[in-house]
Amino acid sequence: GSFDVFSPGRRLLHEGELQRQTRKDLQQRYLILFSDTLLICRYSLGSDLFDPIRLYKIPTDRIRVNIEDHEDYEREFFVISPKKSSAFIANSKRERDIWVSRLSEARIHMRELRQRKKTNGESRQKLATIRHSIESPDVENKSILEAPTPTSSKNFVPGRYEAVWIPDNKATKCLMAGCDTKFSMIQRKHHCRQCGWLICRRCVGTAPVRIKNYDSVKVCPQCYYEIKDLFEKGILFPSHMIRILGLSENSESSQDSSRLSIDGSNIRIAYEGGSRLEKPKDLFRAPDSGKLMKIKNPLEKDGTEEYIVSGKVQLRTKKGYEINRWGRFSRDYNLDFFEAEFDDSPAEKFFVYGYTLSVVENEDGSHVFELLHRNQFQTDRKEEKIIFKVPSRSAAKWLDTLKDMLIYDG
Ligand SMILES: [Zn+2]
Ligand SMILES: [Zn+2]
Repeated sequence: GSFDVFSPGRRLLHEGELQRQTRKDLQQRYLILFSDTLLICRYSLGSDLFDPIRLYKIPTDRIRVNIEDHEDYEREFFVISPKKSSAFIANSKRERDIWVSRLSEARIHMRELRQRKKTNGESRQKLATIRHSIESPDVENKSILEAPTPTSSKNFVPGRYEAVWIPDNKATKCLMAGCDTKFSMIQRKHHCRQCGWLICRRCVGTAPVRIKNYDSVKVCPQCYYEIKDLFEKGILFPSHMIRILGLSENSESSQDSSRLSIDGSNIRIAYEGGSRLEKPKDLFRAPDSGKLMKIKNPLEKDGTEEYIVSGKVQLRTKKGYEINRWGRFSRDYNLDFFEAEFDDSPAEKFFVYGYTLSVVENEDGSHVFELLHRNQFQTDRKEEKIIFKVPSRSAAKWLDTLKDMLIYDG
C-alpha cells in the first residue's frame, strides 16, 4: 500500500510504538497519526521494517476512541472504526492520554471540515430548490428535500464498527447468561463477529454481519436474533444492495408481506464488484443453545453502587501460593475473587462484616491487605485469614474503601 505523506493539509500529529492486545497476547505495533489518517503498522517478521501488506489506513473522522475508567486499564485505549478496531496499550498512563487527546482532536477537526463542506453543498442545493419552486410552484419538490439519506436508517442498524474481541483470558466460562459451559481444551472459545463477545460452541450461530460485508459469520445468540429480526423487518440490508426475487405468491403470506422470512424467497445481494444470489436460509443458522442474552458486562458494575472497589489482585492461598484474581468488594461486605474479570460467579467468596484490617506497604507501592475476624485472634486460626496484594496503581482506592468499611488496625 502506498501512502502520500505530503498530501495537502495532511499534518503529522503523533507517532510511537504501542502494544496491541490480540485475543491471545500482546503484539508490537507502530502507530502514525496524521490529521486525516491513522496508520497502524506491524513489523515484518524478524525485522525492524514495516510490512506494507499489513498496513491499516483508517480515516480519522471514522474513528471512535474509548477508554475504561479503571486503574487496571489506565494505559489502554480502544480505537474503534468500521474496518479495524483494536485495544492498544501504551507504556504509561500519560502516553495513553496523549494518544487519546490527539486522536480526538484529529477526529473533531476532520468532522468539522466535512460538516463545513456538506453545509456549503446543502445550502446551495436548498437555494436551487427554492428558486425552482418559485418558478414553477406546482412542482412537488418534497421528495428532493426528503430523499432518504444513509443516515436516516443507519441508526437502526447495529454493528457499524468492527467489534473489539474480548481477550481469551478474560473469561473462564461462556459469557451468555444461562449457559454454563466452562472453557477447556475441548470446549474452545469462539468470538461473536458482531460484538466481540466470548462464547462456546453451543452458543455459536451464523448470520450476515454488516461490517463483514454481509458474509455469514459466527455470532452470539443475542446478535443472531437481533440480525434475524432486522432481516425480517426488511431493514438489515440497505435497499440499494438487495433485491428480493420471486416473492411468494401464496395468499397466506401476502397478509404479512411486510415481513420477510428466512425460509422465503431468494435474495440478490449487490457488492461493489458485482452481486451474488443467496437463499436467506443459507445465511442464517440458529445457535443450538437457543435465545440467550449476554451477561451484563461486569466492568460496568465496577465502581457503581454494587461494587465499590475492584481490580487485579493476587490472593494468597492456604498453601501460601499467590494466584491472580479479579477482586470485587461490595457495599454489602462481600469480598469476591474471580478467576477472570468477565466471570460472573466468584471462585472465592467472603463476607467480611466486622473484620479487622491490617496493611503492609511494599517498596514498589503495592499493598498487602490482611483481613481477620476479631474473634479469631484468640483461636489463632491462621487459615481464616484473607490475604491479598494490590498493585500500587489501585492501592489507594482499596485502602480508602477497606479502611472505611472494616476495623482498621494499621
Ligand atoms: Zn454478539
Ligand atoms: Zn455458551
